[in-house]
Amino acid sequence: MAGAASRRHSVGVNVGGVMVGGDNPIVVQSMTNTDTADIEATTRQVAQLWRAGSEIVRITVDRDESAAAVPHIRDRLLARGITVPLVGDFHYIGHKLLTDHPACAEALAKYRINPGNVGFKAKRDTQFSTLIELALKYDKPVRIGVNWGSLDEELLTRLMDENANAAEPVSAAAVQREAIIQSALLSAGRAEEIGLGRDKIILSTKVSDVQSLIAVYQDLAARCDYALHLGLTEAGMGSKGIVASSAALGILLQQGIGDTIRISLTPEPGGDRTQEVRVAQELLQTMGFRQFLPVVAACPGCGRTTSTTFQTLAKEIQDHLTTSMPDWKEKYPGVETLSVAVMGCIVNGPGESKHANIGISLPGTGETPAAPVFIDGEKVATLRGADVADQFKVMVADYIEKKFGNGAKEAAE
Ligand code: SF4
Repeated sequence: MAGAASRRHSVGVNVGGVMVGGDNPIVVQSMTNTDTADIEATTRQVAQLWRAGSEIVRITVDRDESAAAVPHIRDRLLARGITVPLVGDFHYIGHKLLTDHPACAEALAKYRINPGNVGFKAKRDTQFSTLIELALKYDKPVRIGVNWGSLDEELLTRLMDENANAAEPVSAAAVQREAIIQSALLSAGRAEEIGLGRDKIILSTKVSDVQSLIAVYQDLAARCDYALHLGLTEAGMGSKGIVASSAALGILLQQGIGDTIRISLTPEPGGDRTQEVRVAQELLQTMGFRQFLPVVAACPGCGRTTSTTFQTLAKEIQDHLTTSMPDWKEKYPGVETLSVAVMGCIVNGPGESKHANIGISLPGTGETPAAPVFIDGEKVATLRGADVADQFKVMVADYIEKKFGNGAKEAAE
């Protein structure tokens, strides 16, 4: 069978009980966009992201009020049974916030440090060292996250000067990519010198251009064995952000590169933040790396289907499965492997439906108004009437109960 390249070897990192890298599954993570100082709003959004399937959640820690809020957010989550690791995102004053707020330093499962934003000139080394010493003190891993929007200017200038004097200078874009990679690797090396183990370091080198991102990560992956966090920064809104992130990350994942991913989507005003989690899951699932949700195969529709019945049913079933999954995952172990087919007419309908665990073939234009249902390849019923959708949903629920519920367990015993 066709498949991805074997995973690049990386050193596994324990992030608050979630393993990133090594031979572990690729981890889905996300980031809140609430003011972290607003304990209630941030707790609520972390819970939403976790419920959607985020395995690690990053929160901004930008000032004293945010740092003071972190342990309360963690405690409120724990009180609700939510143990998702929280990562603190620090810029400029992380060393000070973590020093002044030991409860925050303790509550976080990982510190994200941007070497381009960790102070300037002489102060940079001491502030970076302080952050690493705090990670050692509290036994926490770090992500050294380089972002080309905040690249270390001194390093970039030096590399540009060296390139200008080289016998065969490369393009400015290539020098910039090299600066991003060197910033990550030099910082990681410095962290190791201070005493942080390789099993406590994750690297990321985010850029906003798809081709550059692929080139940067391919190069970085070949030059180290640190666990890698993948993400296209400033991917954008809606389908543009989804396509750009999926194209970039899909190619890297196919090459075995990447241990954890975040899809950075800009939400619509008032939009649902959990979309970035669903897209990340769908990317990993569609490429065959992980299975999170039951698969709904729906035909695209064509001139044989002039009604929207099958579109409506496919959407209803997909929504029903998505919203039910958090509960089902606890109640029905293995339910994420379910496959459902919703097909629009007799051309491919019966065939495709037979390949799913449960499938329905709706009548196309001019066909008899009857919808055969197939379970595990066998035709078991023919649905008729205006409430075909509801009848089918009941059959799906019954199937899940029988195959994944207590009945299945009892039958197996
Ligand atoms: S299954 Fe029927 S309705 Fe759906 S795309 Fe194929 S021919 Fe068209």
